[in-house]
Amino acid sequence: MKRAIASLLIPVFFLLTGCGTAEAQEQFFTMDTVMSITVYGKGAAEAASAARQEVEALNAKLSRTEADSLISQLNAHAGDGTAVDMDGDTLELLTFAKSVSQLLPGCFDITIAPVMDAWGFTGEERHVPDDDTLAAAMALVDSDKLLIDEAAGTARLETAGMSVDLGAVAKGWAAARAEAVLREAGVTSALLDLGRNITAVGPKTDGTAWRVGVADPEDDSQYLCIVSLEDQTASTSGGYERWFEEDGVRYHHIIDPKTGYPADSGLKSVTVISSNHLLADALSTTLFVAGPEAALDFWRSRDDFELVLCTDQGQLLVTEGLEAGFEFRGEELGYDCQIVRR
Ligand code: AMP
Ligand code: MG
Repeated sequence: MKRAIASLLIPVFFLLTGCGTAEAQEQFFTMDTVMSITVYGKGAAEAASAARQEVEALNAKLSRTEADSLISQLNAHAGDGTAVDMDGDTLELLTFAKSVSQLLPGCFDITIAPVMDAWGFTGEERHVPDDDTLAAAMALVDSDKLLIDEAAGTARLETAGMSVDLGAVAKGWAAARAEAVLREAGVTSALLDLGRNITAVGPKTDGTAWRVGVADPEDDSQYLCIVSLEDQTASTSGGYERWFEEDGVRYHHIIDPKTGYPADSGLKSVTVISSNHLLADALSTTLFVAGPEAALDFWRSRDDFELVLCTDQGQLLVTEGLEAGFEFRGEELGYDCQIVRR
């Protein structure tokens, strides 16, 4: 537990090597994590501040623990028949999140909130829920019952007690929106660290790609490998980020919607690299639940992302699209590394 908190406070996930002098950096705490936005070039300070405000505004809209947020209103009206007014962006995000549930059935569902609550992950009192409590919470998980009316601009949860939790996608969405704000301000080089979601805007000021470290799930002050990023996000999901121990067993915060228990799919962490920031965030959570084989099958079926999988067996599986500029650093940490081909 102590370690989990400590890891949140160490925003050292990326390497700023050879990138020149930082023009402006905003560091702040929102979406339950430490974030930083580093911007280079003319107007950097104003742009970084505007990007930060954008991310904080999104949190105010999307957090289910902010009483006035759109998501809290949606959740508060679950089962009472009220179609709740949403803005266009939030509807788009909800629609996207629903679609992710179809990609790998049984792995991802934003109506997982009652199960997160049953485990106490929403507050401070984390514990293994009893079978009845967990079964009751599981009965409420079904994003088919999140009804979206795009024409009317509303959303509705069909059953009382249902609840939406956007924790698996909010940071990727925030990255996309913050990037748009920076681009609008004329920024061509920036690095966003939105808590295990590292987004490179453009290349570094010297024109070369950013070099970003993927943390060792066993000790996140160490890097398993370094990947090159340019106009891409590297999003990592892992059981090591938020967890507690009960009776000597470790329980983490990424839930398998098929069991209601923390996913145990053979992976310690998944890093998804994609030029689609939102997709990267959504898929890192989904593929962590899916496991290594399903993750690689899914990768083979698409061409819009690459993967670094860290398995329970201490193997790093790296998809071939990352090969250029890839640097394995895990040998001394006891890992071995394999490039996966299509
Ligand atoms: P991430 O760090 O992006 O992998 O997201 C983890 C967060 O997503 C958790 O803290 C929960 O808020 C939420 N979550 C956990 N399990 C799932 C799941 N199977 N599908 C969707 N969201 C989930
Ligand atoms: Mg995610």
